[in-house]
Amino acid sequence: MDRARDEPGHIGLRGNLDEGEPYGLPGSYLNSVYELRPLPQAEGGYGYPESGQTVINVTNGKLIRLLVNDEPFDLRYGEVQSHVRELDLHAGVLRRTVRWITPAGQLVRVSSVRMVSFTQRAVAAISYEVEAVDAPARVVVQSELVANETLPDQGDDPRVGAALAASLESEEHEAKGASGLLIHHTKVSRLRVGAAMNHDIEGPPGTVVESSSYPDSSRVSITARLEPGQKLRLVKYIGYGWSRIRSQPAIRDQIVAALSAARSTGWQGLLAEQRAYLDDFWASADVEVEGDPEIQQAVRFALFHLLQAGARAERRPIPAKGLTGPGYDGHAFWDAETFVLPVLQLTVPGAAADALRWRRSILDRAREHARQLGLRGAAFPWRTINGAECSGYWPAGTAAFHINADIAYAAAQYVEATGDTAFEEQVALELLVETARLFTSLGFLNAAGHFRIDGVTGPDEYSALADNNVYTNLMAQQNLRCAAETAERYPEAARRLGVEREEVTRWSEAAERMYLPYDTRLGVTPQDETFTEHEVWNFAATASDQYPLLLHFPYFDLYRKQVVKQADLVLAMHLRGEAFSVEQKARNFAYYEALTVRDSSLSASTQAVIAAEVGQIQLAYDYLGETALMDLNDLEHNVRDGVHIASLAGTWTALVAGFGGLRLRAGSLFFAPQLPAGIDRLAFRIVFRNRRLRVEVKATDATYQLLAGTPLTVYHHGKAVPLTVDQSVTWPIPDIETGPRPTQPPGRAPLLRGAHARIGQSGTYR
Ligand code: BGC
Repeated sequence: MDRARDEPGHIGLRGNLDEGEPYGLPGSYLNSVYELRPLPQAEGGYGYPESGQTVINVTNGKLIRLLVNDEPFDLRYGEVQSHVRELDLHAGVLRRTVRWITPAGQLVRVSSVRMVSFTQRAVAAISYEVEAVDAPARVVVQSELVANETLPDQGDDPRVGAALAASLESEEHEAKGASGLLIHHTKVSRLRVGAAMNHDIEGPPGTVVESSSYPDSSRVSITARLEPGQKLRLVKYIGYGWSRIRSQPAIRDQIVAALSAARSTGWQGLLAEQRAYLDDFWASADVEVEGDPEIQQAVRFALFHLLQAGARAERRPIPAKGLTGPGYDGHAFWDAETFVLPVLQLTVPGAAADALRWRRSILDRAREHARQLGLRGAAFPWRTINGAECSGYWPAGTAAFHINADIAYAAAQYVEATGDTAFEEQVALELLVETARLFTSLGFLNAAGHFRIDGVTGPDEYSALADNNVYTNLMAQQNLRCAAETAERYPEAARRLGVEREEVTRWSEAAERMYLPYDTRLGVTPQDETFTEHEVWNFAATASDQYPLLLHFPYFDLYRKQVVKQADLVLAMHLRGEAFSVEQKARNFAYYEALTVRDSSLSASTQAVIAAEVGQIQLAYDYLGETALMDLNDLEHNVRDGVHIASLAGTWTALVAGFGGLRLRAGSLFFAPQLPAGIDRLAFRIVFRNRRLRVEVKATDATYQLLAGTPLTVYHHGKAVPLTVDQSVTWPIPDIETGPRPTQPPGRAPLLRGAHARIGQSGTYR
C-alpha cells in the first residue's frame, strides 16, 4: 500500500549553528522517518494501540566545524565582534556572518548561506567561507555527516516527543576525496536512511583535502593557510534519501544521483532556482500589512513556514510542527486539514491536494481501524505518521471523531477552491464516502427522529466523550451532504466504491435529521448537549501560573466543568457559518469568550475570525497578535519543540478570513473586509480556480483586482462584484455595528494590540 510513497523524503533542518554547538536542540528531519516505540498502558483495553511512532533526528548534514590555529570556532569562547543571522524569505536561504576573535587574538570572518532546496527535493546545500582578516591563519574546516547525535533531556511536558537515543544502526560508511556517505536503518521500524555529501572547494595553493569515515560519521577536512584578506570557500552539497523497501545499493545510488544533479546545477544555479520558485510563490500568496510591521513580518514568516511544511510533503503528512522539531512526536493531527490546508488551497493548491492524497493513501489503515472499533467506513487516526493510530488515550484520541469530517471538509473545500474535478472523482469521493459511512455507523436515528452522535470529543479537549458535540454534528452533517452530492455527480465511480441508492438516501436523511441542541434558557448554542448545565470552572481561584490547565489539574475535573481549551463551537461558527444567524453568532461568541482559556495554540486565530465577523474588530486584532507571534515571540515557551504550524496558518486566516472576511461557499468567494485602527492597509493575493486575485483593503474601501484568468464574480459585503483582468473595482466598506466587548476568564484576555494598547493594558500574553 505504501509503495508509491517510498521516494526521497523532504527535508527539515533546524537553524543550528554551522559548527553544531552551542545548540538548543540539534535537528534534521525527513518527512515520515520515524522509529517505533512501545506505548505501555497501565490498564490495557481492547483496540488500544501498542506501539507509537516518533519522528527521529536523522543524520546531520549541516555540520561544518572550523579550527583557527588549532582553536575550535565556538561562540562561547574568544570574542564575538558581530554575529548576524538572517532568514531570507524571498531568496529561501539562511544567511550568517560572524566576526570572531579567537582566544589567542586572531580575527576571522565567517559567513555561510544555507538552503533546503524547494526545487531539488532531496537536496540541501551550504556555501561556507572563512577569511583571515588581519593576520595569517592556519584554518581547518571539517565538514561532516553525523548520525545518532546526543539529544538533550526533553523534560516531562506531555506535548514534547519521546527522545529516542541512538535509533540508527549503521549499514555503510564511506569517505573519498571531498565526498562522504552514511547509510543507516532504524532499529525497529526498519527504515533505511542515507545521507551523502560532496564539496566544491576554493582555497589558496597548498589547500589539502582529507577524508575519513566511521559507522556514525563521515568527515571531509580541508586545511589551508590564509594570508590576511584570503579566503577558503566551500560549497557543501547534501543529499538525503530514505525508503522502507529499497535496498542499500538502491538508496546509495539514489542519494549519489541527487548529489550529482545538485552539483551540476551548482551553487548559483540552486540559488537561482530557489529564487524563481519563491518569486512564483509570493506572486500568488503575498500578504501586505501596512501600519503594523510586526504583523507584516509575522505573516510572511508564517507563509514561508507553511510552504516549507507543505510544498514538498508530496503525499506525506504535514505534522503539527512541520519538520521543525520533535514536538508531539512529529505526528500529524487535524491541524493540517482544518488550519493549514485552507491556506494552501488558495496559495499553493497542489500542496493541498497532495496532503489529501496522503490521507487517501492511508485509507486502508483507517478502514481497518473502523472495523476494529465495530464501525463502518474509515476512522482516521487522531495522531500518526504512518497511518496507524498513535494516541493511546481514547478521550483525547480516537474519540475526536471530528477529524474524519475535517478531512472530508478539506477535500470538498479544495475542490471548491480549484474546480479540480479529476481530484474530486479520484480522491475526494472516496474520502467523502468512507467518512460518511463512518458517521452513519457512529450515530443513530432515535425514536424522536434525531440523528445523534454520542460519546465523542470535539475540538475542545477539556470536554470529552460528550453527546452531540455541535461542531462534530455540523461537520458530520456537511460530510454526509457532500458525500451524497458527490456520489450523485459520479455515479460510476461511486458504484465502484459499493455505494447504492439506499446508502445515499441514508446519508441525506442523517444529515437532514442531525441533532443540533440549543439552550433556550440562555439563548446560546451549547457546545454539546449538556455543556451549559455543567458547573463553571472556578476561574477566580485559578492562578495565572496554573495555565495551561492540563499541566495543573486532573482531566476528570476539567471534563465535568464549563471551561474551554480551544475554539470549538466558535470554530463551528467559522466553518459552518451559514448554520447560525449573525445575532446568534454574537451571543454564542460572547458566551464562549468567557469560558475559553486558549490552552491550545489552535484557538486564537478562530477567535479572531469570529470576533471580526461579529464586529469586535479590536478584539480580532488582539487575537491576530497572539496567533501571529506565537512562535516569533515564543508565547507558549515551547517553540524549542518546533513551530506551531496551525497557529502560523492562523496568522493568514486571521488576516484574510478575519479582516478580509473571506468565505468560500458554493464555488464563490465572499469578502466582508474591515480593518482595525492599527492597520492602514491590508492587501492579499490568492489563487482561485486558475485565476490570480488581489484584494486591497483600506479603512473606508476595498479594491478587487483579477490579475490573471477568466472573468469572475466575487462578493463584497453581499454585493456582487464582476471582475475582468486588470480592471480594478473599488467598493466602500459599510459601517458595522459593535456590541460591548466580550470578556475572557480573568487573566486570559489577549494582549491589546495597536493604538489601543497604549490606553490600557489589561491582558497579557502567556
Ligand atoms: C490541541 C489539538 C491539536 C494538538 C496538536 C493539542 O493541544 O488540543 O487540537 O491537534 O494539540 O497541535
